Amino acid sequence: MGACQRHDWTAAEIRALHDQPLFELIDRARRVHSEYHPGNQVQLCALLSVKTGGCPEDCSYCAQSAHHPTAVRPGPMMTLDDVLQTARRAKAAGATRLCMGTAWRQIKEGGAFERVLEMVRGVKAVGLETCVTLGMLERDQAMRLKQAGLDTYNHNLDTSPEYYPSVVTTHRYEDRLQTIRYVREAGISVCCGGIIGMGETLDDRARMLAELAKLDPHPESVPINALVPVPGTPLAGNPPVEPLEFLRMIATTRIVMPRAKVRLSAGRASLSREMQLWCMYAGANSIFYGEALLTTLNAGPDLDAAMLEAAGLTALPPAC
Ligand code: SF4
Repeated sequence: MGACQRHDWTAAEIRALHDQPLFELIDRARRVHSEYHPGNQVQLCALLSVKTGGCPEDCSYCAQSAHHPTAVRPGPMMTLDDVLQTARRAKAAGATRLCMGTAWRQIKEGGAFERVLEMVRGVKAVGLETCVTLGMLERDQAMRLKQAGLDTYNHNLDTSPEYYPSVVTTHRYEDRLQTIRYVREAGISVCCGGIIGMGETLDDRARMLAELAKLDPHPESVPINALVPVPGTPLAGNPPVEPLEFLRMIATTRIVMPRAKVRLSAGRASLSREMQLWCMYAGANSIFYGEALLTTLNAGPDLDAAMLEAAGLTALPPAC
């Protein structure tokens, strides 16, 4: 029998896992992965920014913050028709989920929220799982998203509670946790992960995983991102994350949250395809699939399809 879902991981235990000799870490992560996720399947998620830029928050890694002089220009919200066209293209290219992002502090009631609800209903009708990330939510908004058919809500914890104020000052860690509680109460799946390479320590990474593991149940999806430094943001000059650090983080996440889909997210394009496959061997079973992430480049779908085929991996069918 393998590890059950534990919610009492200490940061010290996680740090010890993370720091063990690499091959032992990978072996253990692989055993957990094979037990909980047999079948060599990878979830392919397309990502679409439906409202880009001009965000009032000051997340220091983000090109869409109005606080940072980046090349991203605020744009209007996409129309329903444009979103549905993108959804059909993503489905035809092999994606099974469409993740729709907006650069908002929180979603306000009114026309924009109604349009998001229409997008959720429309994308479901196309035959894709739906995920949105809209910033902070109120309880009744989470319920209405659920009624519209939303499968998953993305709201990342980003880093440890201790390091969070060094990354964002316009909202609190507790605000993030409150939105996650509303999402969970509404019966929507939780997608919640973080970013490495923002200047945090290895202990911060361990503390972030301990916070994620405290969520009961664990998040269904845990995206692990490596910072993509964007010119104009406060983190533009950060050194790149070492590929082996990315691999260690993926493997540790797999062990700590055995049932979650661990998503190899931003920063994947900077890894060789061999290192991407090592990450999948060690526990990653979800990727963003398509040309662009919200504002940074991703590998193209043809390259991804060739990589998966070369490794004998197949796309996980949609759950809807
Ligand atoms: S990460 Fe989200 S909330 Fe933070 S600045 Fe970017 S769009 Fe706004």
